[in-house]
Amino acid sequence: MTTNNQLQQRKQAVIARGQGNVYPVYVAKAKNAEVWDVEGKRYIDLGTGIAVCNTGHSHPAVVAAATKQLQEFSHTCVMVNPYEVAIELAEKLTTLAPGNTPKKAVFVSTGAEAVENCVKIARSATGRRGVIAFTGGFHGRTNLAMGLTGKNAPYKSGFGPFPGDIYHVPFPNEAHGVTVAETLGFLKHLFKASIEPSDVAAIIVEPVQGEGGFYMASPEFLQALRALCDEHGMLLILDEIQTGFGRTGRMFCAEYSDVEADLMTMAKGIAGGLPLAAVVGKAEIMDAAHPGGLGGTYGGSPVACAAALAVLQVIEEEQLVSRASWVGEKFSTVLHELQQEFPSLILEVRQVGAMIALELVVDGDAAQPNAALVQRIISLAPEYGLILLACGYYGNVIRFLPALTIEEPILDEALERFETLFRHAVE
Ligand code: PMP
Repeated sequence: MTTNNQLQQRKQAVIARGQGNVYPVYVAKAKNAEVWDVEGKRYIDLGTGIAVCNTGHSHPAVVAAATKQLQEFSHTCVMVNPYEVAIELAEKLTTLAPGNTPKKAVFVSTGAEAVENCVKIARSATGRRGVIAFTGGFHGRTNLAMGLTGKNAPYKSGFGPFPGDIYHVPFPNEAHGVTVAETLGFLKHLFKASIEPSDVAAIIVEPVQGEGGFYMASPEFLQALRALCDEHGMLLILDEIQTGFGRTGRMFCAEYSDVEADLMTMAKGIAGGLPLAAVVGKAEIMDAAHPGGLGGTYGGSPVACAAALAVLQVIEEEQLVSRASWVGEKFSTVLHELQQEFPSLILEVRQVGAMIALELVVDGDAAQPNAALVQRIISLAPEYGLILLACGYYGNVIRFLPALTIEEPILDEALERFETLFRHAVE
């Protein structure tokens, strides 16, 4: 039998260490919320491949749609000979995107590419250069997306020079002492000191910071950004890559704020694990870029588009948007009980739909992040048959991103296992 250890050694010999892996656990099979490794051990997956498999691993409807498309044709390039599945998907996404302004879409393959294309489109539509992003934000690992990302280690360290005309402002984060009013004040200073608003093409923000630690941008904040953008002719880009497709208990998280983005990114949960991403935005803005200026060889792969259409159908038929809130509340109840028991270690339980986080500190003090405990919990997780992910500006957050389709007994089992694991880790 091939072991995890053998595969980890083979991996280390041939895959660059930069592409690290959280767990030396090699997958043989996965079904809905469960994963089995090459040694036959079973895990409950609370990471869904970083918020991708919202509809679970290998949902039969998604597998059937992708297989059917693969048998018909796998690739012609949407920029050479397009096909109906891409049009149908764009019709659906432009309808689902929040707000009433007519929309258009462009397909790419990864989240970082969607972010880069938002900036290209925004610059092309406004003729301006500047882009404002936030501390703790994550927008990807390509050069421009990395430049927008608001955290150095491990994303930016040693990878400069960075693209110009990107400005970072502290993200409003009450748990860490930054209010919405202060962030708006920092923006005013930025406009005085570094770049005039008339030179700013766009502001990019995640409605809930994902890699940054599951801190939500309040409706008040997003509405203030919307007003600021309208006042100065800047575009508002919402990065919904981690928050999209039902994850937050809304189809898209912006619905909580009633804010219409000029441009939004979509990826991850869009196609049940197939690589697909999109920019969806106001039609007039989207059309600013000239023909041939956007796209790529694989963007809008027919197999991925077919899978995405099946994902959207599953979300609707299985009512996964409301189920996300139900799943999240189950987590929230158990985690709040744990917080009552360990108030000096658990600073906050945060939950927006099925985007759930536990922030760990020392002595109940927000200024003393407990990244060591998070690392201990993550490294013990396989022993308890769990796949868990960390995140956070300070590396001190455990995030839970279960499949929205997770079966109730498996969800209960996962919560029980996590409680036992937590008690063991803090001993
Ligand atoms: N934006 C956000 C909000 C993300 O969470 C991620 C991925 N974690 C990205 C962008 C980058 O996506 P990708 O890894 O597909 O390039």
